Amino acid sequence: LFITLEGGDGCGKTTQSELLTDWLEQRGRTVLRTREPGGTDVGVAIREIVLHHRGEIPPRAEALLYAADRAQHIATAVRPALARGDVVIQDRYLDSSVAYQGAGRVLDATEVRDLSLWAAEGLLPALTILLDLDESVARGRLDAANKRFDRLEAEKNDFHRRVREAFLALAAGEPERFLVVDAALPVAEIAAVIRDRVAALLER
Ligand code: C5P
Ligand code: MG
Repeated sequence: LFITLEGGDGCGKTTQSELLTDWLEQRGRTVLRTREPGGTDVGVAIREIVLHHRGEIPPRAEALLYAADRAQHIATAVRPALARGDVVIQDRYLDSSVAYQGAGRVLDATEVRDLSLWAAEGLLPALTILLDLDESVARGRLDAANKRFDRLEAEKNDFHRRVREAFLALAAGEPERFLVVDAALPVAEIAAVIRDRVAALLER
């Protein structure tokens, strides 16, 4: 079972993926909790490049670096885990590429999606949880937690709004795959909504 979490910075993906992992492990499942970019050793090196050389990397080069990270991660970590029958819970996947490299950095959304699917040899998640949150709320949370928030991008007024709208449009286009949750709800409530949906998937 392949589950991805999507949403902007500060929406609570990491918290929810931890809670879902704990719950699944309590039920006896083996879980690979992972992320993109940076889910493999090669991916960690790519993550360093993309995140530390921002501003020097043109959008197409950036999209290809994310795609290289994805190809490495899906082939060497995710597919083997799925083949063993493990549950894979992944922070960010191709929808992040469409939202950030597509809507955010204005590449063609279809091309970015096709590039991702090529990198991953067509692998799509059974479930994608979109944690939807207003940018100003997310920023407040990250500030309160004293965590990194991408100020460079924050300055570009409507970047995060475009990314959020792109995520919502993706969810609207694939309602079967997506579960959209209001990320302003209390953590425990969000976790319960997610568990209900995952429980239903496990029963199928
Ligand atoms: O969520 P995480 O900390 O792994 O994301 C790191 C950063 O990479 C985020 O701030 C996000 O803006 C960016 N990112 C991106 N394009 C992607 C995935 C992540 O710009 N496809
Ligand atoms: Mg996170």
